[in-house]
Amino acid sequence: MKYSELFTRTSKNIPAEADSANARFLVQGGFVHRETAGVYSYLPLGLRVLRKIEQIIRVEVEMMGGQEILMPVLSPKENWVTTNRWDTFDVLFRLTGVQGKEYALGATHEEIVTPLVGDYIFSYKDLPIKVFQIQNKMRNELRAKSGILRGREFSMKDLYSFHANQEDLDVYYDFVKKSYLKIFKKLGFDSNITYITYASGGAFSKFSHEYQVLSDVGEDQIYVCEKCHVAVNHEILDEQKTCPECNNSNLVSKKGIEVGNIFKLGTKFSDAFGIKYADKDGVLKPVVMGCYGIGPSRIMGTLVEIFNDEKGIIWPKSIAPYQVHIVSIGDVAKDADKLYEKLMSEGIEVLYNDRDGRAGAKLNDADLIGIPLRLVISSRTLEKGSVEWKERSNNDAEEVKLDNVVELVKKYYLK
Ligand code: ATP
Ligand code: MG
Repeated sequence: MKYSELFTRTSKNIPAEADSANARFLVQGGFVHRETAGVYSYLPLGLRVLRKIEQIIRVEVEMMGGQEILMPVLSPKENWVTTNRWDTFDVLFRLTGVQGKEYALGATHEEIVTPLVGDYIFSYKDLPIKVFQIQNKMRNELRAKSGILRGREFSMKDLYSFHANQEDLDVYYDFVKKSYLKIFKKLGFDSNITYITYASGGAFSKFSHEYQVLSDVGEDQIYVCEKCHVAVNHEILDEQKTCPECNNSNLVSKKGIEVGNIFKLGTKFSDAFGIKYADKDGVLKPVVMGCYGIGPSRIMGTLVEIFNDEKGIIWPKSIAPYQVHIVSIGDVAKDADKLYEKLMSEGIEVLYNDRDGRAGAKLNDADLIGIPLRLVISSRTLEKGSVEWKERSNNDAEEVKLDNVVELVKKYYLK
């Protein structure tokens, strides 16, 4: 992408509402555009990041047996009445359509997915079933906060599983619990700062499990067991004052951002909708369910909270909007264009700042946008047949030969 063609611009002004690093840098860098509190548009750079996050999650969830579907945002009131959540779900957006028909905006999708999948369940042979979607959820959050960390419209991957019995759910749930840690690692969260956190489980199990990433902007207070590398959410601490795994009572208080949450739903929703299957003897039994959420947009914000410095964002390689940021300085368009074409033809994703402008301003933009690798090309480097190579996460720059650049970039991304 030539920066001269990108319609967005970076901004020097810190947004008035910026209460956190992501709220600041994502707006200043032109990744997102704030429409109102908790509501953001994703711009070309930001959408590339969000899509990469979603794609990493999609590939992993498919490997976990998930089949992707897309459910509607408009959700009929009757379904929420059936589950008794129309009046009790605190952040539900409710609206009235033509002829007085009432709807909720999808805040979660048990009310749709249960009767939907139920239409395809007849006997034990049809189970288990796992379906997921990646879609925007709407929640009338009391306080939208911290940029895209707590939105009123936000992206969610929600997976739902349907089983013949509790044992089968338990096995799959444990499998998801482990697999999620792998996903968060792939997304760029070091396992040192990612905690499986015991939280309240609802009617059907003692606990649910949250995935908390340590960060001072986090809204959740968690108590960490440093021996087992698990945590307990503050909200359940009344009942659970020690580590649920080793009984250690010396838990350490930390702030976390909840990036994922998994639940055993049991038969709560299948009972409400009367979803049953015939077992081997033809006896009708209720389907047992689990649900498993991850928030891609919150993850994008969380990555910015963790990977930034005073100049801007430092994207992890796996989800950076582009792999290389070429900055041309001075009158070197011909050579810079050539470098751009060459990298592109090798399948490398390149943002190329070909705009006129002061070197300082262009370098500041590169720091703000945070692409992992910056290549500066100028008459000074060209004299030596080289470009300046600088990694965003590293203060030192070095010169590398133009002839070796492609190979070095590829190697860098394999590391
Ligand atoms: P929270 O406790 O933070 O309000 P939740 O427990 O209500 O979240 P879930 O219903 O478990 O959230 O949703 C699954 C995932 O969706 C969460 O783990 C989080 O990553 C993301 N998520 C939830 N609410 C929001 C929001 N308002 N903005 C952005 N992401 C969100
Ligand atoms: Mg949760």
